[in-house]
Amino acid sequence: MLRGLTLLVVSCPCALVISTPVSTVSAITSAARNGVVITGGEHLEALGAIRALAFDKTGTLTRGVVRVAEVRASVGRSPDDVVSIAAAIESHSAHPIAQAIIDEARSRGIDTSTHVVADVEQLPGRGIAATVDGVAHAVTVADGGPEADELRLGGATVVQIARAAGDAQHVVGLIALADEVRPEARDVIARLRGLGIRHVAMLTGDHAGVAANVSRELGIDDVRAGCLPEGKTSEIEQLRQRHGSVAMVGDGINDAPALAAASVGIAMGAAGSPTALDAADVALMADDLHALPYLVRLSRAARRVIRQNIWASLVIKGLMIVGVPFGFVSMTLAILVGDMGTSLAVTTNAMRLAAYRPDE
Ligand code: ADP
Ligand code: MG
Repeated sequence: MLRGLTLLVVSCPCALVISTPVSTVSAITSAARNGVVITGGEHLEALGAIRALAFDKTGTLTRGVVRVAEVRASVGRSPDDVVSIAAAIESHSAHPIAQAIIDEARSRGIDTSTHVVADVEQLPGRGIAATVDGVAHAVTVADGGPEADELRLGGATVVQIARAAGDAQHVVGLIALADEVRPEARDVIARLRGLGIRHVAMLTGDHAGVAANVSRELGIDDVRAGCLPEGKTSEIEQLRQRHGSVAMVGDGINDAPALAAASVGIAMGAAGSPTALDAADVALMADDLHALPYLVRLSRAARRVIRQNIWASLVIKGLMIVGVPFGFVSMTLAILVGDMGTSLAVTTNAMRLAAYRPDE
């Protein structure tokens, strides 16, 4: 009778059952302490298995704090004229470029409220169109052209302000915008490669010239420029077909569908838009890219701890179950070691994960 009861106590699977959830919760706690929100255990697990990683450019690899570097006006126009029209239209956009142009107008002392803006149309991944004082205008990523190409040489994003003239577009002026690459980006990409992530890509709506400059600086070899939001999504699908598990890091401006399409969508928390946080599985609240290699390591550590816990509880319980019929296991031993002891051991082992730190 006593041996039967002892066997029952030892075979209680509670240590086995709690092994995984306590490890997952501990790892998510570590992430939260380091400014990263992970919205579920399955995303934590997926992070360790990533084979390819795609970055958005503006707001993700760059700070997304854009400022106007240069304004060029076409013949017969003044730079103030160009900024004035552009700022009037951009006051209807939430893009970082829009804010930069509005700030520029303010610092030039231009009053944009004198313009009448109507028929505003957002062109996702391209720019914005509207009528200004009754004339159709658009502010969009600049096409090729000697002057735009020259402005782009230093890595600046160039937008053109064009007036619709019948079916044709008449370029009124160009605005070059400087955006800083995040200082940690290069180092982070090298570390991710060191962790076995083979393929690092950059997806951007910007012009190929700018994209090439930024990617060269960061050591990224796969660059897709001129992407509309749906273009970014199909690139992610292609990467998934080729590499299996793909993470996308973005700010949610024109890349929320791509974040949703990736195996793990990672959003920039502070620079990102509210849509980014909706579409993503993981949010970097501090906008620090160093969190990426840390997350990959944390995920792998969690997996290791889960494996240790499962094996430890199976082995301890297995040995005891074999020992009970021969009278080697007393009821006290069964309770203290076989049941409670194992549960406490796996919990303590899992809680080590909560103290897991990013390396520096
Ligand atoms: P990225 O893909 O690099 O994150 P976005 O998708 O935010 O960049 O934008 C892509 C391009 O579209 C920008 O480089 C810019 O030229 C143009 N663009 C987007 N929104 C605007 C806007 N409000 N005004 C002017 N240009 C814009
Ligand atoms: Mg972006």
